Amino acid sequence: MPVSGLSPYDDANIFARILRGEIPSRTVYEDEWALAFHDINPQAPTHVLVIPKARFVSFADFSARASEAEIAGFTRAVGKVAQMLGLEEPGYRLLANMGQDGGQEVPHFHVHIFGGRPLARMIATR
Ligand code: AMP
Repeated sequence: MPVSGLSPYDDANIFARILRGEIPSRTVYEDEWALAFHDINPQAPTHVLVIPKARFVSFADFSARASEAEIAGFTRAVGKVAQMLGLEEPGYRLLANMGQDGGQEVPHFHVHIFGGRPLARMIATR
C-alpha cells in the first residue's frame, strides 16, 4: 500500500528496523551517511536500495530538511554503490518513489538502483 511521503517519521518502518539491526539485510555498502542493500523483491538483475542513515520520510522531506553534508554524503554514496556494482559502464537507472502517486511503500527515503540488463523506457503508461 502506498504511503504518504509527508507524514511524521515512523520509527517502526522496515528500513528503520534494518538500520537498527533488528532485521537482516543483504548489505552492499555502508558509510557515515548511507546504507545500501539488495531489494528483497528484485525487479531487475541488480536492484539495490540506498537509504540515508538519518530519519527522512521521503525525497520531499530529505530535500527540504537534510543538511548539505547529508545530501552530499548520500548522493556520493549512491554514485559509489553504482560504481561498486559495476553498473557505470553498462548503465543503470535511479528511482525514488514519493507518496501515494509515486507508489512509495516504505516511509523512509530511499533510492532504487536498477541495472544488469537494458531497462524498459521510463514508466508504465497505466
Ligand atoms: P518503494 O515502493 O519505493 O517504497 O519501495 C520499497 C521497496 O522496499 C520495495 O522494492 C520492496 O521490495 C523493498 N523492501 C521491502 N522490505 C524489504 C526488506 N526487508 N529488505 C529489502 N527490501 C525490502
